[in-house]
Amino acid sequence: MKENINPFGTGWNLDNSYSKLPDIFYTEQKPTPVRRPELVMFNNALAESIGLDPVQLNNPKAAEIFAGNQIPEGSVPIAQAYAGHQFEHFTMLGDGRALLLGEQITPEGKRLDIQLKGSGRTAYSRGGDGKAALGPMLREYLISEAMYGLGIPTTRSLAVATTGESVIREMPLPGAVLTRVASSHIRVGTFQFVSKWGTDEELKALADYTWERHFSDIDEGENRYLAMLKEVIRRQAELIAAWQLVGFIHGVMNTDNMVICGETIDYGPCAFMDVYDPSTVFSSIDARGRYAYGNQSGIAEWNLSRFAETLLPLISDDHHQAKVLAMEALVEYHRLFERCWLAGMRAKLGIFHEELQDEKLIGELLEIMRKNQADFTNMFRVLTLDRPEESELYEKEEFLRWLTSWQSRLERQDETKEDSIKLMREYNPAIIPRNHRVEEALDAAVKQGDYEVMKRLLHVLSKPFAYTAEQDEYATPPKPSSSPYRTFCGT
Ligand code: AMP
Ligand code: MG
Repeated sequence: MKENINPFGTGWNLDNSYSKLPDIFYTEQKPTPVRRPELVMFNNALAESIGLDPVQLNNPKAAEIFAGNQIPEGSVPIAQAYAGHQFEHFTMLGDGRALLLGEQITPEGKRLDIQLKGSGRTAYSRGGDGKAALGPMLREYLISEAMYGLGIPTTRSLAVATTGESVIREMPLPGAVLTRVASSHIRVGTFQFVSKWGTDEELKALADYTWERHFSDIDEGENRYLAMLKEVIRRQAELIAAWQLVGFIHGVMNTDNMVICGETIDYGPCAFMDVYDPSTVFSSIDARGRYAYGNQSGIAEWNLSRFAETLLPLISDDHHQAKVLAMEALVEYHRLFERCWLAGMRAKLGIFHEELQDEKLIGELLEIMRKNQADFTNMFRVLTLDRPEESELYEKEEFLRWLTSWQSRLERQDETKEDSIKLMREYNPAIIPRNHRVEEALDAAVKQGDYEVMKRLLHVLSKPFAYTAEQDEYATPPKPSSSPYRTFCGT
């Protein structure tokens, strides 16, 4: 017989405000029970920060909750409806293998979605089995926590539980459920869904809900929906700039994978770039490179246009006027992105104030890196360590010339070299989740049941700006390989 865990004292403080939206937005659905739940990963620090008791929950018995066999107190699980442009194709989607357990109200009064991913079929599963394999769920856990360590807005991972069942993909794989924590799961695709299939009242209900949940502390001006659009644009510009500055490639920036609150979400085929090249693509399904590193900002802008279209009826009764206002907001995106990116690049180079020539200096470095296939992270790492001679480009004439112009740029500012190095250390991570390290960690866990490799990796990635000796070995790029690294959608 299965032992029940104590539902009291675990810290669950769930509310279900999303279920107060009109019926069209969700379907009530219980998780599908699984055979033999086992808790393999648990995030003590995150649990504690959201008011959950790690002692009660980081416990074999709590696997019943994190695999979906038991519903935590206060939860009314729902699958959320949404649509999305997958690549260019618009389609109805929805939580096909995920369930929102509810919103945890944290001790500070924050409202955070608690979602199970891989918890069985729902009304939106279409042909899918509603399940998830262990490898991809661990991958999401690892990369989302690494993004958090890098200071980039992201959903987080609370737990992974294995199910004791196989999921059938190209071969049978161990099944698992991920517990994800997000500011919300309201997507561009949620707005597209109601815009296409809902009434104006339902659209307004979603927009007002989203406003209250994420934007109520900003000035609503004359029109809260326009204010919301502008704020979403601003947050995305900041987010994508932050990705670019660390070489993060999301891999599947469909409109259903862009959330309104501005967090990074859905770590399927994502990966970090080693060698600097804007055309870098890792995803096996992205044959034409739509979501390549160098395209991410343009794609975000495209997705934001789809979002803006859904808001037009709320922005003004006069369709033409609504379009003019939305366009004015959208043209700001590029400027905001460039500003964030440039500010970040200056900081990565230890530059405190703007000079017109900075863009050229930055562009020259990136071009030298691209031509010579330099490692993105390690270039900035050796500059931060003031050891440019360790760069693979140190033999190159053009790089030496660039170093001289950079040095004279630094000398033109009042701040000292030490000030610059301090700034660079705040912006240049010593380590990122290198693909070969991620694979090594996932392999050990999935094939040998050894989670220590992953836990060590998580540990060093939790403070990527620390520059500790322990991190040195994790900075080594992969050995050159004959076949490029490939990632797959998290199924
Ligand atoms: P994703 O690629 O994870 O963003 O998922 C895209 C869409 O496919 C979402 O609607 C998912 O819920 C759905 N989906 C992905 N995998 C499965 C699955 N195994 N069973 C049912 N639906 C799925
Ligand atoms: Mg998705």
